Amino acid sequence: MKKFLLPVIMLTLTLNASAQDLETIKKDRYTLNIINKNDQLDTKLKKSLTDAFFVAYPAFARADGYRTKREVDLEISNETPGISAAEGKITINRDWLKQHPENLEKTLRYELSRHWVSADTIKKKGYELVFISKDPNLDQQVKQKLIDTYFKIYPVLVKTYNKKSTKEVLFVVDTAYKAVAEASGGRILFSAGYMKAHPTDIDVVTHETMHIVQGYGYSAGPVWLTEGIADYIRYKHGVDNVGSKWSLPDFNNQQSYTNSYRITARFFAWIEKNEKPGLIKQLDQELRAHTYNNGSWKTLTGKTIDELWTAYAQNPVI
Ligand SMILES: [Zn+2]
Repeated sequence: MKKFLLPVIMLTLTLNASAQDLETIKKDRYTLNIINKNDQLDTKLKKSLTDAFFVAYPAFARADGYRTKREVDLEISNETPGISAAEGKITINRDWLKQHPENLEKTLRYELSRHWVSADTIKKKGYELVFISKDPNLDQQVKQKLIDTYFKIYPVLVKTYNKKSTKEVLFVVDTAYKAVAEASGGRILFSAGYMKAHPTDIDVVTHETMHIVQGYGYSAGPVWLTEGIADYIRYKHGVDNVGSKWSLPDFNNQQSYTNSYRITARFFAWIEKNEKPGLIKQLDQELRAHTYNNGSWKTLTGKTIDELWTAYAQNPVI
C-alpha cells in the first residue's frame, strides 16, 4: 500500500505547483503564458505587466513581419538579469520588474525590436513610412529606392483612387518570407531573397501600395480582378518598369481575363484605350463599395466582360 501512495502524492504536488506557476491570458489573437515560480506577483504589478504586454507585443508582431509567434511564454525569474525579449519568449528578472513597473511597455518594445537590423521612420508631406529590415545584407540602394518609390507613388494613388487610405504604411523586409511581396492592413512584406535576386524590381511597391489603396475587404470581387487592377496601376504609374524589364505580355488565344496579373492588366489597358476611359477607376470604386457584380461591365461599358474580351481578341493592339 505504501509503495503506491508515494507516487500519487508526488503527482498531486506537481499538478498543484504547475497550476500556480502558469497563468494563461488570451486577448485578441494573442496568448500570454506567465510562468512565475517560487513567488507570487502582486495583483497591481501583474496588471501593469499584462497591460504593457498586450500593447507592446501586438505592435511588435505586426511590425516584425512573417508569421511572428502569437503565443508568448513570459518567465519571471530570479536568475536572469533585467529583461530579455524575442518573439515567443520573454524573461524578466523579478527584482527588476518590481523596480521598473512604469517603463515596462517602452522597455518591452525596445527589447523585442532589438533583433531587427534597422527600423526607420520617415515622414514627408503628411505621409509616413516605417521601414523595418530584418536582412543584414539588404542593399542600401535598393532600400532607398523602395522608400523613394513609396513617397513618389503612394500619394498619387491615394489622391487618384482612395483619399481615405491610411497615410501610415509599414514596410518589412523579411528573410523568413519566401514569396515576392504581400500587402495587408497597411503593411507590406517584402521577401529579402526576392529583392536580392531582383534589385531592379522596385515597382513591386507600386503594385503592393495599390493593394493598400484598394482596401476592398473580403469577398468584394474575384482575385483576378483585384490583381489585374494592381498590375494595370503598375503599368500606368510604375517608376521604372523598363529598368526591371517588366512589361505586359502580348495577347494570344490561350489567354483569358481570369489569368490575372499582367494578362488581365493588358486587357484593362486595351479597354481604357478603346472602349471606356476611366473604367478601372469606376470598377475600383464599386469594388470598395461592395457594389461590384457581373453586371457592372455592361452598365459601365455597354458590353459584358465576355463581349469585351471577344472584341479585344479580334484586335488586341494597345
Ligand atoms: Zn497583388
